[in-house]
Amino acid sequence: MTLSKSVIERICQAVNVDRLLSTAIALVEIPSPTRSGGPVAERLAELLRADGFTVERPDADWPEAPAVVVRYNTGKPGRILQFDGHLDTVHLPFVPPRVENGNLYGSGSSDMKGGIAAFVEALRVLRETDSLPGGGILITAHDHHEGPWGDRRQVNAFIKSGLVGDAVMLPEYLATQLPLAGRGMSIFEVRIKRDGVPVHEVFRPAGLPDVVKTGAELVVRLHQLHDRIKSITHPYAGHDSVFVGRMQAGEIYNQSPLLCTINGTRRWVTPGQGPAVRGEFEALLAQLAEESGTTIEVDWEQQGEAFSIAPDHPIVTAFQSAYAAITGAPLPYGAKPFVDDGSTYAGSGGIPALTHGPLATGAHTLNEEAPIAELVRVAQVYALTAIGFCGG
Ligand SMILES: [Zn+2]
Repeated sequence: MTLSKSVIERICQAVNVDRLLSTAIALVEIPSPTRSGGPVAERLAELLRADGFTVERPDADWPEAPAVVVRYNTGKPGRILQFDGHLDTVHLPFVPPRVENGNLYGSGSSDMKGGIAAFVEALRVLRETDSLPGGGILITAHDHHEGPWGDRRQVNAFIKSGLVGDAVMLPEYLATQLPLAGRGMSIFEVRIKRDGVPVHEVFRPAGLPDVVKTGAELVVRLHQLHDRIKSITHPYAGHDSVFVGRMQAGEIYNQSPLLCTINGTRRWVTPGQGPAVRGEFEALLAQLAEESGTTIEVDWEQQGEAFSIAPDHPIVTAFQSAYAAITGAPLPYGAKPFVDDGSTYAGSGGIPALTHGPLATGAHTLNEEAPIAELVRVAQVYALTAIGFCGG
């Protein structure tokens, strides 16, 4: 559907910058390092209750900080658009909220309490103006996002229990491109071991497996694998890759050690390939273990599955109409540079997920800075996207 001039004007005028900002400050002022999101979740629930919304608090696999859920339904047929945000922040010293020169500062202002305040404002505006032609909004806010402290269990619990919309929007600090694809990613640690004890170089028994040599051989084979798979490409996500960033072995120059450790990443562009990619990697290790007489084990931690969203999907067309209505032109398509909860919704849950938030800076630093005008823009874009998507 096309957004009429009057709808655009009504939404833009209804977004209340003071109300949005005070919500953002109310969230930022409560410290919430990952896995300690209970108090800030309670604060968000209070704010939403004070607005007259019915708030649900499902554990979502983390009773220490039950999730915050609101379902706003028009009662008319249509799609459900989910606004999802993480309330936890990285484990850095707490920076209290501060407003200066048109910016909001403080822990989580960019990543992503500012964005959550913006989608809460979008929900308020949709209700006040009664603008949603059908369907409804599902709000989900949760803990357990930031790694390595969190393992994304609450988002996985939402997906498992069906607490999801027909599409998801996530206000991470990405505003210069609309990510239609993202790579899957796993972090690996390979440990190459041999039996026996450490021994002086000159006293080695004949045929003693060499973990350093085997480690070097593995690095070479992983680079060969990289050269083979880099031709697997996606127009927005890039290409498949293997990267080794760390290799460790040995105690002293003339002693044969027992262990060599290799750490790196494997990224892939094809949705759903996580298990196959892992199988290929493990087969390569098994082959090398057999050839070298070593034992090779691997820790394989999948951070996110690859995903791809069609440019003509209704959530994309609704978003682009909304974005163009506010800024004058659609947002160029691109890749998602990081793995976020949208990668889980889209890659593992099969639910199209758009990451779009304020043009904010300083995520994962002590200097988070979110322009207030950007938070207002995000609220407007989210509300207008919902009008286009839910009624469709
Ligand atoms: Zn974030």
